[in-house]
Order: sequence, then C-alpha cells, then structure tokens
Amino acid sequence: MSNDDATVFPEHGLDPAAVLDQLTQMKSGDLDWRSGRAFSLVYNPGDDEHEELLEQVATMFQHENALNPLVYPSLLQMELDLVAMAAGLFGTAPNAGSISSGGTESIFLAVQVARDQAREERGIAEPRLVTAITAHPAFAKAAHYLDIEQVFVPVRDDGRMDTDALANTVDERTGLVVGSAPCYPYGVIDDIPTIAGIAAEHGALCHVDACLGGWLLPWFEQIGEPVPPWNFAVEGVTSISADVHKYGYTFKGLSTITYRTRELAKRQQFWYDSWPGGLYASGTTAGTRAAPPIAGAWAAIHHLGAEGYRAKAAQVRDAGRAFTDGIEGIDRLEITHRPDIPVFEFTARDGSILAIADGMDRRGWHLDRQQGGLHLMLSPAHLAVADQFIADLTDAVAEAPVGDGGATELEGTYGGVV
Ligand SMILES: *Cc1c(COP(=O)(O)O)cnc(C)c1O
Repeated sequence: MSNDDATVFPEHGLDPAAVLDQLTQMKSGDLDWRSGRAFSLVYNPGDDEHEELLEQVATMFQHENALNPLVYPSLLQMELDLVAMAAGLFGTAPNAGSISSGGTESIFLAVQVARDQAREERGIAEPRLVTAITAHPAFAKAAHYLDIEQVFVPVRDDGRMDTDALANTVDERTGLVVGSAPCYPYGVIDDIPTIAGIAAEHGALCHVDACLGGWLLPWFEQIGEPVPPWNFAVEGVTSISADVHKYGYTFKGLSTITYRTRELAKRQQFWYDSWPGGLYASGTTAGTRAAPPIAGAWAAIHHLGAEGYRAKAAQVRDAGRAFTDGIEGIDRLEITHRPDIPVFEFTARDGSILAIADGMDRRGWHLDRQQGGLHLMLSPAHLAVADQFIADLTDAVAEAPVGDGGATELEGTYGGVV
C-alpha cells in the first residue's frame, strides 16, 4: 500500500484545496441523482432554489448539538414545530411525538413503546410484533435489537396484507400490529381500517408505517387523488412513522414518529439520574444529535408551504401517469401490483426482466432489482425524463431476447460496510 492510500492514516495534513480535490475525485463514481436517472435513495424535487436554500441552512447549523435543545432555543422551537406540523397533517395532538434521525429510528421507537406498553399495561412478558411480509426490514431489525418475536402475515394478489390471515394470527400475546402506507416494494397501502380494527379487538397497538407516504399522501388527497384511509382518522391507529427526508424534500436525517396520545409518546423518554455527569435525559435513541437535519426540514417546509407541496405532488402524480402508461404500452411488460402512489414494480411476462435491466444500465439508468422485477420510485424531477425513459425502455425490451434472464443478479440494499 502506498502512503496516499485512503485507508492509511495520513501523517501529514493537506491544505483544504487538496482535500477538496481528492473528495471531488472520489465522488466522481457516485450515483448521479441530478440526472433524474436514479429512482431510490434521493427524492429529487428538481428545484435549484430549494437545494441552494438547504445547503445554506446546513452550513448555518453545522456546529449546533441537539442533544440539549434547552441551550439552543432555535432548535427546540424547530423541533416542536416539526412535531406539531406532522401531528397536524396526520391528525393527532401537536405534542404527541418526536422527530428522529430516519425511518428506521422512528420504527425502533414505535416498537419499543409498544413492547413497554404491552409489558406494563397488559402484563404480556414477551409481546409479539405482527407485520406483513412486505413491511420494511427495519421492523425485523427492531425485533432483533429489542429481542421480540416478529410474526409474518402473507399478502394478497394485490400486494396488500391478507387481513383474513391477520385475523387468525393476532392473539392475546400481540403487542403491535403494523400496516404500511404504502409498502416500499409495491407502493400499495394496506387496508388500515381492517388492520387497526383487528388490533384494537385484541387490545394491541397499531402502527402505520408511512415513512414513504406520510409526506406525500396529505397533498395527494388535497389535489384530488384517491387516497385510502391511513392516518389517525382511522380508529385504532396508535402510531405513525413518516420521513421528512423522503417526500418532505429535505436532506437525510429527519423522520417523525407521532402517537395517538401524549402518554404513549412519553414512553420514549429515557431518564438517568445516577451518573456522576449529572441528569441525562433523552427522547430518542441518539445522544448527540446533528442540527442540520432539523433546520433543513424546517426550512424545506417553510420554503415550500402547503402550496409548494401540492405543486410537487401534482408533478409526482403526472410523472407516475407518464411512466405507468408508457410501461403498460410496451407489450412484454406489466406492473406487478397497482400502486397507490408512484412507487411500483414492473416485470416482463416472458422472464427477460434482468436482461432488460442490463439494457437500461447500458443506457445510464439505475433501476433497483427486487425479487419480482424492477423498482421505480418517482420524484418531481422524473417528470422531465419520462419520455426518454420510455424510449430507452422500448429499445432495451426490443433488444432483450425473450426469456433471457440477463447477466446480472438480483440486488439488495446495503446499509454500510462491516
Ligand atoms: C425508507 C423506509 C423506511 C426506513 O426508513 P430509513 O429512513 O431508510 O431508515 C421504512 N419504511 C418504509 C416503507 C420506507 O420506505
């Protein structure tokens, strides 16, 4: 290994320009999301002014620490505002929740609250978590970390949780039942009223995972799109996770977790008073918390306003129509499950989908390969590339031999290198 190998700790410091040079070079191989040719990981509002604002705000709050918001009244206020705005959108009390670093943390917190509630109020020593097989892996991760059993329920042909199977699964040991609004693989919203009803019948809590849909569905409803019931208006729903860093159009690190009551939310609180360092109190899993995501989310919401979110939702809707109509117009292709928002999977009826994916790779598109086909998640920026996408897809289909499985395999999602 040479001395300048990045894995070797540098003996001599470099001047800022040289560091920036190296980083620019390293970054040249990264996913180019601004092109509109990538479909997950980044929710691109296609809006330079918005992006510049977020960059300025991130710099402005770079050094603050939200571990103790009492010495940063600005952060405290923004945090209270974010929770109250989410609570207002989803239909609960303005102080019944918190922000978190992302969907996974929000889900961890909801599972922890449900576990503790079941133990303390219902006397269930080992409460179970019940989800559909389509529920986000963050639930499996939470069950693993928090040492509780997860029971899986199959989905019907339309991709939604099989609620008959759910009714046969939920019992007196169930602590938490989960529905998705929508689930990531197919973009379909589970039958939340039935799921919440079954949970309530057994005294269990019901979490709606709206990490993906939470910051899009309210605006979809306001622009007249059909949105099945999914939030606190549904009796029996007791908590909702919703990520501002997805369709809320801020950079990574901001999700919301809201509850039907303030009492449930308070189960997140952790107090420790036997430390020589003094009283330590914290409402989420992180200790030191980065301030830029808080300020970024607050700024995104105040820059766009409801008006701006409705306009972006209309672009997402229009992109969805352009992509789904175009895909369905190609003979060999089909959308596997009819989605409620423009997040969906499509495949080739003749088994050639992975060869088609290879053809799209060669044309510079980055489509995620899932178990049943290719995944698309549309942002406002995709509206501008819809025609090019369909033209390239038509060519990729034409050149893929019927039944050819392609050179590449199914991919996964990686959350870090260990
Ligand atoms: C993204 C997502 C999550 C997890 O959120 P992270 O922010 O990646 O931790 C959970 N559920 C659904 C449906 C999601 O789309």
